[in-house]
Amino acid sequence: MVPPKAIIIASGSELLAGLHTDTNTQFLAQSLRRIGIGVVRTLIVGDAYNDLVDTFSYALDRAQVVVVSGGLGPTVDDLTREALSEATGIEMVESPYALAEIRERFRSLNREMSENNRRQALVPVSGMYFSNPNGTAPGLVFDAGERLAIALPGPPREMRPMVENYVIPFLEQRYPGLPRESSVMVRFVGSGESDIDQILREKVPFDPRIRVSLLARLGLVDLTLYCPTSEKEDLNLLEESRNRVLEVLGDYAYATELVDLSEVVGLQLRKRGETLATAESCTGGLIGASITAIPGSSRYYLGGFVTYSNESKVSQLGVRPETLERHGAVSEQTAREMAVGGVKALNAVWCVAVTGIAGPDGGTPEKPVGTVWIGVASPKQNWSLVRRCQFFGDREAIRERTRITALDEIRKALKKVAL
Ligand code: ATP
Repeated sequence: MVPPKAIIIASGSELLAGLHTDTNTQFLAQSLRRIGIGVVRTLIVGDAYNDLVDTFSYALDRAQVVVVSGGLGPTVDDLTREALSEATGIEMVESPYALAEIRERFRSLNREMSENNRRQALVPVSGMYFSNPNGTAPGLVFDAGERLAIALPGPPREMRPMVENYVIPFLEQRYPGLPRESSVMVRFVGSGESDIDQILREKVPFDPRIRVSLLARLGLVDLTLYCPTSEKEDLNLLEESRNRVLEVLGDYAYATELVDLSEVVGLQLRKRGETLATAESCTGGLIGASITAIPGSSRYYLGGFVTYSNESKVSQLGVRPETLERHGAVSEQTAREMAVGGVKALNAVWCVAVTGIAGPDGGTPEKPVGTVWIGVASPKQNWSLVRRCQFFGDREAIRERTRITALDEIRKALKKVAL
């Protein structure tokens, strides 16, 4: 079977106006791709009826599967349903089953169902509907034989489970045996995208069957290798290629699946039965926040200090006033004393400390904006290792890069220091 092509459409004037970010399209594109349906275009359209009909007709002329999110609500500006009916030429009727489900949803919420909501029980005469246990609007399939238009509710918490539970199984049944792309990934930290690209080009010649994607974001780089099918040969080829990448770039690789760096560090600490504290200045608690975002982190994370002022560095972490006076708050010495102070204050095995200039003001020729000192202290590694970093970008980027590099410093220290 020739794989169908898909077009994804996000409808909503707030998306068009840039007031809301369209995250549905990204989710839908990934979901369709997983089952071998390639997305050839994505579109955003406002709430005006003529624009909707026009956009849906355009998409139906060019793709076998058109997926629309948004505009299934009960109000007058929710016109996706009617516009799809016109664009496909498929009429709608009220479904007693859909209506009963909507009534039941209102009853379970102890709310009165308004007459407006009856519109949400309209379903295509050729096609089907998907129940929505997380909202009132059912999803709809307008089935024109060769072409399908699928309408889904806009709120991601309604749309996502509907896609996973109903849309994907429905499409898999409709298009059986599609070749499914397979992939492997390696996540890197501590080396730039162009360096990784260069090393891969020189040392890892990939098979022409493999499609390579490198994605970089603030100090992190994801390498994904794709093969066109999930046949054994392709899976082996991907496995071998990933092993080769790890041989060459293993020091920078922190994961081979979609996990966060803080999760990787947490897992290591948990395995070793060791504890961690944080002492943060320019990141204001970002490092602690990302560590505690991982469930179960209380097993290894003892707590953190946000010591933004000199006074708090002295009173909470025991940094010496002479150190601050002589070397300044952003210095190797201060970072070291912060890290050591954090270990002592919480009786932790490890502490990571950061102090830097996130900008936009406060830089000097010797310590420009983006200068950050990161220290890792532990009685297990001869106390402390401190490193100077020079980050670029705006305040947010510098703070995020500091967070990532601090986590990477712990990761590297744990790798280096045997249990
Ligand atoms: P409702 O029944 O809530 O009106 P709906 O199907 O009519 O749902 P919309 O009114 O278009 O959906 O959107 C409702 C909300 O869903 C939006 O305010 C927005 O928060 C979210 N939403 C809609 N489309 C998207 C999208 N493409 N990406 C992310 N969020 C979206």
